[in-house]
Amino acid sequence: MANSGEPTIFDKIIAKEIPSDVIYEDNLCLAFRDIAPQAKTHFLVIPKIRSGLTQLSKAEEGHKELLGHLLYTAQKVAKQEKLDKGFRVVINDGVEGCQSVYHLHIHVVGGQQLSWPPG
Ligand code: C5P
Repeated sequence: MANSGEPTIFDKIIAKEIPSDVIYEDNLCLAFRDIAPQAKTHFLVIPKIRSGLTQLSKAEEGHKELLGHLLYTAQKVAKQEKLDKGFRVVINDGVEGCQSVYHLHIHVVGGQQLSWPPG
């Protein structure tokens, strides 16, 4: 349900209650391969604790450090994935942004030539 604050499928992934292909983990975040990849490489970076961050537009002052960590981690894992020629970072926000899981997540796509603009 859009931004209900209810647990999402990502809570189950964090709790390892459902399988996922985790490629990076630290005390604050998790990166795993998207189950429906939109490019040769497509992974998500998510905070382990949602702490109100159901979507980017709910960000508050106190989330700034976590947001920085997520973005820093996105490029770190992109390097780990050898996306040396470039990649794209996407955060879908809300209904018009096509957000489907209301637990903030950063998409990282690459491993091939991407086009611009997106749809
Ligand atoms: O930005 P949006 O909310 O639409 O993205 C959610 C993403 O989570 C989708 O790309 C979807 O494929 C992914 N997903 C996943 N594993 C799940 C459920 C969703 O990788 N079990």
